[in-house]
Amino acid sequence: MMHELSICQALLIRVAEIAAVNGAAAVERVTIEIGALAGVDPALLTAAFAVMRAGSCAATAALRIESTGVRIECLACGTESPAAPNRLICTQCGGYRTRVVAGEDLRLRDVELRLAGLPELAQLPPVPEPSGLLRRRARASGPGATA
Ligand SMILES: [Zn+2]
Repeated sequence: MMHELSICQALLIRVAEIAAVNGAAAVERVTIEIGALAGVDPALLTAAFAVMRAGSCAATAALRIESTGVRIECLACGTESPAAPNRLICTQCGGYRTRVVAGEDLRLRDVELRLAGLPELAQLPPVPEPSGLLRRRARASGPGATA
């Protein structure tokens, strides 16, 4: 079962909420960030979006996906550094006891709306902070990942 389908569904629900709050006529573009450790296949998510957007306020919206790299914090020396998804090792001391600080999440970064243009919508409420949307736990790092 593709979990990209459920992720896409949650994404579309969130986008619809933002569009509704802002009184938008339609959604022009949706931009999301996918961390390298989020376990989400951008191609599958794009395919799911192309099908599932039908009939929603995002029916003609483009989906833009930006990949974000992994950053880790070393539990031994405290250094924060970039890391390869399959090699979560401190670049400073070589320690493998690290904590992932970026790269596990899928975030809705931006939603571009086409507004209805009604005068009473001139003062728009702010878009709710989308950070942490669809946050999910990726695989745990540890000694097993260092081989
Ligand atoms: Zn270190």
